[in-house]
Amino acid sequence: MEYKAPLRDMRFVLHELFDATGHCELLGNGLDRELIDGVLEEAARYTGGEIAPLNRNSDEEGVTLENGEVRTPQGFVEAYKQYVDNGWASMTGPTEYGGQGFPQLVASNFHEMLMGASLSFRIYSGLTEGAVLALYKHGSEELKNAYLEKLVSGRWSGTMCLTEPQAGTDLALLRTRAEPQADGSYTVSGSKIFISGGEHDMSENIVHLVLARLPDAPAGVKGISLLLVPKFIANADGTPGERNALSCGAIEHKMGIKGAATCVMNFDGATGWVVGEPNQGLACMFTMMNDARFQVGLQGLGIAEQAYQGSLAYARERLQSRGLAGAQHPDKVADPIIVHPDVRRMLLTQKTLVEGSRMLAAYCARQLDLEHGHPEPSYRKAASKRAALLIPIVKAFFTDMGQEVASLGVQVYGGHGYIREWGMEQLMRDSRITQLYEGTNGIQALDYIRRKLLGDGGAELSAFQAEFSEVCDRQIDRPALHDMASKVQARIGEWRELSAEIIAATGRDPQEIGAVSVDFLQYSAYVLLAGLWLQAAARAQDALEQGSGEEAFYQAKLASADFYLRRVLPRASAHREAIKGGAECLMALPETDFAF
Ligand SMILES: Cc1cc2nc3c(=O)[nH]c(=O)nc-3n(C[C@H](O)[C@H](O)[C@H](O)COP(=O)(O)OP(=O)(O)OC[C@H]3O[C@@H](n4cnc5c(N)ncnc54)[C@H](O)[C@@H]3O)c2cc1C
Repeated sequence: MEYKAPLRDMRFVLHELFDATGHCELLGNGLDRELIDGVLEEAARYTGGEIAPLNRNSDEEGVTLENGEVRTPQGFVEAYKQYVDNGWASMTGPTEYGGQGFPQLVASNFHEMLMGASLSFRIYSGLTEGAVLALYKHGSEELKNAYLEKLVSGRWSGTMCLTEPQAGTDLALLRTRAEPQADGSYTVSGSKIFISGGEHDMSENIVHLVLARLPDAPAGVKGISLLLVPKFIANADGTPGERNALSCGAIEHKMGIKGAATCVMNFDGATGWVVGEPNQGLACMFTMMNDARFQVGLQGLGIAEQAYQGSLAYARERLQSRGLAGAQHPDKVADPIIVHPDVRRMLLTQKTLVEGSRMLAAYCARQLDLEHGHPEPSYRKAASKRAALLIPIVKAFFTDMGQEVASLGVQVYGGHGYIREWGMEQLMRDSRITQLYEGTNGIQALDYIRRKLLGDGGAELSAFQAEFSEVCDRQIDRPALHDMASKVQARIGEWRELSAEIIAATGRDPQEIGAVSVDFLQYSAYVLLAGLWLQAAARAQDALEQGSGEEAFYQAKLASADFYLRRVLPRASAHREAIKGGAECLMALPETDFAF
């Protein structure tokens, strides 16, 4: 399936909504509009021209394991070489280790493109960036000097080794052990499962970040340490040295992302070094996990964009039946299916979810940049809180949305959607994993409500709601936007009430937390997107009033905002009703009585 990066929409979000140039000036990274747009155009050429053509075959060919070595699908090794040689790998890396220090606000567009072009290909590099962050923030100088530059360049790749057969969501159950050695290193023993990119032939070395227990560590999550365990131990001159005692025992046969190696990794007394403080591994890993969760959100967005592009092209070409109001294209044997209201419902649902999520991704990316790079500590702290609030929403909502949009894509294609050669069913299979890994979406929702809402008694969420309420206040007196702004303002009021009710209900009964979490996350996301669509509409209205030459583009933004508010936002009401249904009806049925 062809992939064409949505550059116009990306520029709209970057420059017209989020002032990317001013953002870069504040961060002092020297990027101006010309450079940002130039990089994204080049990124569009690379992802559309080099990566997307590999995606279909990677699904058919998959990966193979022979004598402990994983062979990736045809073309991946060469495409990864370009990824490294052309500096894509080092885009966000810290400059003192050879990175280019691009802010997330800009880089997330490139990453979205990569995910849309081929999720399998992206998986091999995605966790390296998180490993860089964790090592940069928590690693000793020796470890940083030995490993960071190579990881930043992409010549070495990184993994995240958490999961074990008995320890998935519940990392307190993990058993991998690390024994201290006289020279300050550790020997790591245990087996990890489901490790993305655990073994492959694309990079010169693979650096595993492994969660393990030291001897006499306290039980549970307070006794987990993070260790760096490389496939080849780095020589003093930075070349890959001695082969470490670890191996890939098997690769998984999966529903989707078949071009990505998902490995069982066996550590047989492998040499490793603690990153950060002993027993503080989970805190260190959270640095990596936050980035990884944002990236997985972008996976949902990238796949959804690709599914929308395919659906739109198909709906314009496929001729079936006449429009309900009579023939729209009488010169043809039948009308293209895009004339049918139900097909338009599907396309506009896809379009408004994708474009709305892209705005939210930019909002979140901006907070992540400010958290790390704002000159004022108080702003860094505020941005960190805002990003933390948003990460579970981005991860869970975008990936649920990706699955929905891909499924709608199959529907738009009709029976052809179910047939492999068209590529749409691959998107549906590939996107399914995004709802599961990096913490299932159920766990994201628990995080959102337990740590982010209840953690501060709703203070951060309330500040966020106030910000969106002000956006409505600014637009409500404009005749063209009055209805939209009133609708969003009413939802924000409802969102505030619901948040307060949930805080009260969870105080009375802790089961309420898990009972309402998914619905509350979904509710919040739909209202948030409504606020962002209002901002998009306001910008479009400004541009039209100023007589922009791109009338069709801005009219489409207004029409999309209108569709979203009328036809998608009402889903929030169903989630609200479900929340009000409470925990009792979930817990009333005894475990024994689920089936007779
Ligand atoms: C293709 C693929 C790639 C992966 N890549 C990696 C990787 O690179 N590194 C890595 O470490 N792991 C990786 N994973 C593992 C992945 O992160 C886990 O599968 C995921 O976190 C869920 O764990 P689990 O499968 O053990 O499910 P479980 O934890 O057994 O969960 C099963 C169900 O129970 C629910 N559940 C569990 N606990 C609770 C709770 N407290 N409250 C409410 N619901 C709960 C879950 O939401 C889920 O629906 C990968 C997995 C796959 C399939």
